[in-house]
This record gives sequence, C-alpha cells and structure tokens, in this order.
Amino acid sequence: MTQPPTYAQEKAVALEAVTAAAHLCQQVRQEQVEAAGKPQALEKEDRSPVTVADFGSQALICRALAAAFPQDPIVGEEDAADLRSSDRAPQLEQVTRYVQTFAPEASPSAVLDWIDRGNGAVGDRYWTLDPIDGTKGFLRGDQYAVALALVVGGKVQLGVLACPALSFGGNSPGLVFVAVRGQGAQMLPWSATGLGSPQRIQVVTGVDAPEFRMVESVESGHGDQGRQGRIAQAAGIHQPSIRMDSQAKYGAVAAGQAALYLRLPSPKTPDYREKIWDHGAGVMVIEEAGGRVTDIHGRELDFSLGSKLINNQGIVASNGTLHDRVIAALQEG
Ligand code: AMP
Ligand code: MG
Repeated sequence: MTQPPTYAQEKAVALEAVTAAAHLCQQVRQEQVEAAGKPQALEKEDRSPVTVADFGSQALICRALAAAFPQDPIVGEEDAADLRSSDRAPQLEQVTRYVQTFAPEASPSAVLDWIDRGNGAVGDRYWTLDPIDGTKGFLRGDQYAVALALVVGGKVQLGVLACPALSFGGNSPGLVFVAVRGQGAQMLPWSATGLGSPQRIQVVTGVDAPEFRMVESVESGHGDQGRQGRIAQAAGIHQPSIRMDSQAKYGAVAAGQAALYLRLPSPKTPDYREKIWDHGAGVMVIEEAGGRVTDIHGRELDFSLGSKLINNQGIVASNGTLHDRVIAALQEG
C-alpha cells in the first residue's frame, strides 16, 4: 500500500514563511496603524482596502515558496500592478523597507517580482495565499490572519493560519494553526519572538450544549447576519454570536471556542462567490480538528475550478455533529 505524502517539507517552509509574514504585519500595524492613529490604506480597483503589509506579506511568502518549490504555482490575493504605477513609488519604497528586515537582499524590483509570483493559475498542485485576510480588521485593530494552503487534486492538503491578534482564555495574543490532511490539527502560541510548543486541537463534541456559540463576520456586508442568527437558533445555539474578522473564525471552531461558523450569502451580493484564499487554510484546520466544512447546500468545497469557489455558495463550518441539522435548517428557509 502506498503511504499518503507527509508534506513535511511543505509544512516547515509554510510555517516559517507565514510566521515571518505575520511578524512583518505586526510591525506595520504597530508603526502605521496604531501609532498614526488612522488607517493607512490604499484602494484597489474593486475599492477594497490594501496596505503595505498585504504586499510585504505576499512578497515574503512567495519568495520562500519560489525558493523551496520553484515549480508550484501560487494563487495569491494581491497583484503587483496595484504597486507598479509611479504614484505608488512611496508605498513600494515602504514595502521594500519592511521586507528587507527579513530578506536583506530585497530591492523594489525584486519585491514586485515576488508579489507577481502570486499570479499563478490553479493547477493539480498549487498554493493559495491570503497575505492579510481581514484587511478591514487589521486596520480597525481587530482580528486578521495570514493564510496559506496547499491544494492537490482539488482538495486542500495543508493549511497554515497565523492569527497575530487572537487569544483564548486570557493568554497573550498570537496563535498559529497548522494542519496536514490525515495528521490532525495543531495550535501554537506565537509572538514576535517565536513559536511556542504545539498543542493538538479538537472541535467541541456533542449535539446540544448550552454554551455552544456561532461565529460570524464583523462585516455585515460579507454575510447575512439576520439569517445566520435564525439558523443558529434552529440548530440549537442560543448564545449570542461571536463576531470576528478573517479566517480566525475557523481557528475558533477548530479549537472548540465556537461550534459553528456561518457565512450565508449577503442579500446585497447574492451572486458573490467565495475566494479560494479566504477558506483553504481554515478548511484544513477545521477538518483535521474533527469538524466539517461545506457550502450552504451541503456540497463539498471544490478548489479545482479557479480563484473562486464557483460551484459553491456561502460556507457552513461546524464541529461536525451540528452539520446536518444546520443544512436541514437552511433548506427549510
Ligand atoms: P471576513 O473577515 O470574514 O468578513 O472576510 C473577509 C473577506 O471577505 C475578504 O477577504 C473578502 O475576500 C471577502 N468578501 C468581500 N466581499 C464579500 C461578500 N460580498 N460576501 C462574502 N465575502 C466577501
Ligand atoms: Mg481575505
């Protein structure tokens, strides 16, 4: 019998790259967002915000992946075109300065090239990267994540999720989640000084528990908070929801802090299709912690079709035991 791949090198490279990028993001947040007291964001063509940290994080991670796995395409959220125009030269200068802290050889043109590595196409084996997931949370001083996943044959095989502002139970902030298919999910305390020891994590068990919670986005336009609340009730969850930016929500379910993550299509954007980099890493972490992830119709997420999950609508991520009940409630209305 052939053994499944262990992805040991992929895991080590991904962990090192993602934590370096998380460190860069925290530096930017401390120096620019917190110290300046106001968000320093640029606007992309679709009017969503992007910061020097998004670009710096993508540059660092693509550099590391390109060195270790030169054949692998990377499908990243950011595009260097948004940084190439001459009026963006000051921002490129800043990105380069931050990246040099971790890669002293970085020049503006090398930084643009590394970011461009993230323009790869979905293939049989590829990486998908959100250099800062939850940019709005990053700018608000709330949750955000650096999210990297390896997809093989349309299914996620490895996920690394760094959540620099996340903590459970009063510990100091900073958690990293790592999972490889078939190997379980781990959570590691993380700070700018390094990683702590890994701890195996598990979703909450049981079907009815008074302490069960649902987690959803802070941004009302990224979901349907009214319906999310009603579906959670129908599934037996009566605690108020937890609102959290980014894939940190997947970490909360995987670590047993919430039993359910709902992301139902927003009535304002009913045709929105989820992006692969917004879910890949989180899906792996929840599945390996014993939970289940599908779309709102109960369909498995298909990562083989391009940068969007075009065959899926919305997200239901649960501890597993609640899943069928949630899908049934969604079918009822
Ligand atoms: P969250 O912090 O969970 O709200 O997720 C942030 C992500 O929401 C961003 O990375 C966007 O890709 C994604 N997003 C943007 N617009 C929408 C929308 N209309 N519906 C669902 N997700 C969206
Ligand atoms: Mg995102």
